Amino acid sequence: MKNFFWLLALPALLTFSCSESSRQVAETEDKDKTAVNDSTNVEPALESITTSDVLMHTKVLASDAFEGRGPGTAGEDSAVNYLTRQFKKLGLKPGNPDGTYIQQVPMMGFTARTEASFTAGGKKIKLQSPDDYVAVSRRFAPSVEVKNSDIVFVGYGIVAPEYGWDDYKNVDVKGKTIVMLINDPPIPSPAAPGKLDTTMFGGKAMTYYGRWTYKYEIAAEKGAAAAIIIHETEPAGYPYEVLSGSWNRENFDTSTSNKNMHRAAIEAWITTEKAKQLFNADGKSFAALKASALRKDFMPVPLNAKANFTIKNELREIDSRNVVAKLEGADPELKEEYIIYTAHWDHLGKDTTLTDDQIYNGALDNASGTAGLLELAEAFTQLPEKPKRSVLFLAVTAEEQGLLGAKYYASNPLYPLNKTLANINMDGLNTYGPTEDVVVIGYGNSTVEDILAEEAQKQDRRIVPEPTPEKGYYYRSDHFEFAKQGVPALYMKSGVKARNRPDDYVKKIQDEYIAKDYHKVSDQVKESWNLEGAVEDLRLLFMVGYRIANGQQYPEWKPTSAFKARRDSMLTTTEHAHQ
Ligand SMILES: [Zn+2]
Repeated sequence: MKNFFWLLALPALLTFSCSESSRQVAETEDKDKTAVNDSTNVEPALESITTSDVLMHTKVLASDAFEGRGPGTAGEDSAVNYLTRQFKKLGLKPGNPDGTYIQQVPMMGFTARTEASFTAGGKKIKLQSPDDYVAVSRRFAPSVEVKNSDIVFVGYGIVAPEYGWDDYKNVDVKGKTIVMLINDPPIPSPAAPGKLDTTMFGGKAMTYYGRWTYKYEIAAEKGAAAAIIIHETEPAGYPYEVLSGSWNRENFDTSTSNKNMHRAAIEAWITTEKAKQLFNADGKSFAALKASALRKDFMPVPLNAKANFTIKNELREIDSRNVVAKLEGADPELKEEYIIYTAHWDHLGKDTTLTDDQIYNGALDNASGTAGLLELAEAFTQLPEKPKRSVLFLAVTAEEQGLLGAKYYASNPLYPLNKTLANINMDGLNTYGPTEDVVVIGYGNSTVEDILAEEAQKQDRRIVPEPTPEKGYYYRSDHFEFAKQGVPALYMKSGVKARNRPDDYVKKIQDEYIAKDYHKVSDQVKESWNLEGAVEDLRLLFMVGYRIANGQQYPEWKPTSAFKARRDSMLTTTEHAHQ
């Protein structure tokens, strides 16, 4: 609606600003291009980004010695010390104004020991963790219980006024156990039944309503005692093992003053099989319930069933760490403006209950992206002339725990966010060779992509939207926390058309990674890796940051972007708003 209001004023603004701004833009780009095209300026920097360096850093960070880089473990110390040492070696300044390379991130650690069961149709349904379900309580309490709780099926569990959608219809679920479907409802198009209705929930692309984090947030808002999501591999975007492998171990949340008492006591997933067993025991069919959940007039379905959960929480409070370094800008005024490159250094740590391999090395996720961050940092130090604005290199903690390090930085920024022009995030580099394209997650959101498209063209490449928007990758890495705070954020991923390879070459590799290695101990550096594509991608991201650090133009969210309003409200106070 806000955009609409904005659009109302469009004609007046356009006549003024257009001629003004288009001449300005032309000028700036000419200036930018001249600066950029003075290749002597950037060649040494670009050349410093090499496959051997990316591989070296990745191997160190993903080595068994780093124990899977779990927050609050010896693996954290290894990763944080390595990053600090590398930033110091590059001669970069401490990124924290307190003179250190560290931002402490207070977090609450909890390890859940769970018991659960259902009673339905007069029969007890046993639940085994982690095979049938996983559950945690993010309430910072030693034990939590939900006994004989009424179970209600609430479809997708979504309240989306912009789509006229409400799965609760004012049915009171306070103190009850709600069972929900994952992702958004795939609403068929009335005009073309085989197709999805693109006016509802973004059609194929997952909206934030589809994310598990949203499901638990709305459950808390509704006062549910327990919230259970039914796991289905396709709509979830990953196999059940990803959950059973991590939920039974230590998890974290950012410290909150109320110790998370506002959250539902129990947050859980169950397998499709167990969900079917529960519904059948009450004489209901999962398929029929799922079909009914696609209708706008869906009503919550109370089951003749009860849920029982007991969780014993092992608790601890820690200060995990974001590691941050700064290349201070050369311009006396513009050095107070920033571009932030991010990559999460953390992964899933060690699981001592496993027999053979206990370490989640996280080579692709995200030792590779962190190696990329170090290579970009090095590249900026190789510039004969420092850029006008300052560039920050921020390795965040606890991404695997819910983007916690990025969330903490974005709500406790070391430098003003309204002076932060852009965030460029890396999470998993290309390991399968050069590509003809690069993928933009959340394509069409900001003008940072326009710069990316121009620089990609110089590499004879094009930018393309993500091939699997239904997986909701836009909400699954650290840029999302910056975007939520209004900072124009770019999340570029490797291309999908490998040079001189069959069209499905990349898809096969990515599907195999998701099925076999994603969040598994087998995510290790592979002999087959070819990092030439990763180096090309990093050089591209270097050029994007370099142009923004020297540019006249403040990157902006595009008019249709959900994040524009936040940025506008943030910038109205500063003189840069309508430059
Ligand atoms: Zn990751």
